[in-house]
Amino acid sequence: MFENKQNPLTPLSEIGEFGLIHRIKNAVKLQQPGTEKGIGDDAAVLDFKTYKTVVATDMLTEGVHFNLGYVPLKHLGYKAVTSNLSDICAMNAIPTQILVSIAVSDRFPLEAIDELYQGILIACNKYNVDVVGGDTTSSNSGLIISITALGQQKADKIVYRNSAKYNDLLVVTGDLGAAYFGLQILERENEVWKVNPQVQPDLTAYDYILSRQLRPEARVDIIKLLDKLEVQPTAMIDISDGLASETMHLAEQSEVGFHIFEEKIPMDHQVIHAGEEFKINPAMAALNGGEDYELLFTISMKDYDKIKGNPNFSVIGHAVSQSEGCHLIGRDNSFKTELNAQGWDAFKKYKSEMKKSQTTEE
Ligand code: ADP
Ligand code: MG
Repeated sequence: MFENKQNPLTPLSEIGEFGLIHRIKNAVKLQQPGTEKGIGDDAAVLDFKTYKTVVATDMLTEGVHFNLGYVPLKHLGYKAVTSNLSDICAMNAIPTQILVSIAVSDRFPLEAIDELYQGILIACNKYNVDVVGGDTTSSNSGLIISITALGQQKADKIVYRNSAKYNDLLVVTGDLGAAYFGLQILERENEVWKVNPQVQPDLTAYDYILSRQLRPEARVDIIKLLDKLEVQPTAMIDISDGLASETMHLAEQSEVGFHIFEEKIPMDHQVIHAGEEFKINPAMAALNGGEDYELLFTISMKDYDKIKGNPNFSVIGHAVSQSEGCHLIGRDNSFKTELNAQGWDAFKKYKSEMKKSQTTEE
């Protein structure tokens, strides 16, 4: 995995913990005006002036959240950052700093950690975010990465999950389901590779769905766009676990229900094709697949004109009363099924329910 034919690999013990921290410090370029002190002291010092501070943290464990058999460390670093920044965006805030903690076993040479940090720093540069600290420790087995992200926003612009109102429109950014199918491709190719490492597959037909799995983006652009359009979402969440489960979070916390219209769920043509190939309804990948890191939010009906026709946004449904619950409504009203966040068993149930409702309608 970390082979380098020209140069021998460097065990981490050779440079030690302080050597590694020094190396990380040198690679980091600070860009945020709010960063007063970054790596190098006992703690970082930040200044958010009149803004509120938004903080989120996430931990990724090898073998649970990622598989280094097919995920390059550079991509892992990138995704570890963007998935955290996505949580900051979901509060309608702009990410500004992160702290990165890693636990590494002696299986990882210095070159591997360099690659991981390359990905971390590419994401930080792209999103104008500073690495201001972290922790470095050893692990007995795999790699663990924990990232804490900070962001800022004016007090009256922060958006929570609990403030969607009856009749609000439910809006999603970008398109859904691609990250799920990207993972299906990676897992399939990994199995092929295990049997025959000589095979060099041509994956260009899957480039979009693979990049959505390996290299997801945080929708900081959307937070800026909403500000520009003067749209204040009434509630918001990011889609890390699939549209169904995130919609149910909004519903539960806002004490409303939702209707989602299957035909309104935005999907890329590679998702449609992959759905045919894997014999999986692409809408179900959108609902239960996860890791798309798009934003799901509600807006008041009066704001509809501000987003109408904008290709970044799809209105996929609306809020109904809590007693009505959360439902997916099929094309041409072909079925109405209760949303369920249980993952793929639920998906099987959806499929059979859909078949049932389709046959009873006919
Ligand atoms: P302490 O022993 O006080 O926790 P450390 O030696 O762990 O101090 O950290 C020294 C400095 O290096 C701190 O600013 C810390 O935030 C930073 N740091 C440590 N590990 C990392 C890392 N993996 N990535 C980024 N910064 C780190
Ligand atoms: Mg420490």
